[in-house]
Amino acid sequence: MFGRIFLQRTYVRIFIEMGEAIMGDSSDTDLQIINSFYQNEEACIEALIAMKWPTGFVCPRCAYPRCTRLTTRRIPLFECGRCMHQTSPLVGTIFERTHLSLMKWFRALELFLLPDGISAMRLSQVIQVTYKTAWLMLHKIRHTLGESDARVLLSGDVKVNSDQYGRNPSRCQFPHPHATAVVAGCTLTESGEPELVKIRLLPHKRGDGRRPNRLELDEFITRNVDVRTSAVQSFPLAFRLYTPLRKLVREAWDSLKSTYVALGSKHLQAYLNEFTGRRQLHLAGTKETQQQRLLKLLSMCVSVTAISYHKLIARQLNSPLAAAA
Ligand SMILES: [Zn+2]
Repeated sequence: MFGRIFLQRTYVRIFIEMGEAIMGDSSDTDLQIINSFYQNEEACIEALIAMKWPTGFVCPRCAYPRCTRLTTRRIPLFECGRCMHQTSPLVGTIFERTHLSLMKWFRALELFLLPDGISAMRLSQVIQVTYKTAWLMLHKIRHTLGESDARVLLSGDVKVNSDQYGRNPSRCQFPHPHATAVVAGCTLTESGEPELVKIRLLPHKRGDGRRPNRLELDEFITRNVDVRTSAVQSFPLAFRLYTPLRKLVREAWDSLKSTYVALGSKHLQAYLNEFTGRRQLHLAGTKETQQQRLLKLLSMCVSVTAISYHKLIARQLNSPLAAAA
């Protein structure tokens, strides 16, 4: 009896540590029926190799272009024809040192691209892995989007809002005790809609209508905008924000709330990166197929080194309170 209670408490503690609510997550939508483009492990491996070396193998040590392919392992090794260095196509990607099949990974990427993504609990059920494994896979994908986002600056006609994340859009007039200050910035399409979007959380500023000040807006611009090529307009006043961008921060809240119910503040920035990153991948709209989007996400995954579980858990917790998501 004692052991069982202890085990339950341990699980609760793990879920809290992971920062993702598990309630309201049992709906039985059959995600298995979504068509998968890569039907076997070989197809996944070949797609990954093609993405890693689009113009053919290049030795990472001496840049020699010829190699011998060694197929005795689950993932083939490539031996350089000059320096004999052996390398795996997984090195330097988010799949490095994974014990899972690439089919499970590709499936996770496909499900991550669903309009509102997928929770770790659902993913664990669909691809038959533990909750912890699914949670780590999704965070590795989020980390990839965050790193890719950080490599690109906003450039052109740029709008920057001093906003809040976590307010009920239909009850905007009431201050929300858990709303967190965010700086949101975007470039614009020809029709004035947000194109490339970045949302940065200021986790130390929560509740009581607290928003980023002018200094914090300037800091966001310094870090995220190519000021030499941009015309930047800041909106520091709560009643005079750039409306399409404000709408988008509300959409982020709606989308993340629908999938994850409630999120702790520890990983909230990663979830915001997930929202803006996925939105970016879907921007080409109907012109682009689901497979093209998957390949775009895959190209990010092969250019970002995986973050470890211990690094994820060690992220600094900026506030002891949980953010309302
Ligand atoms: Zn070599």
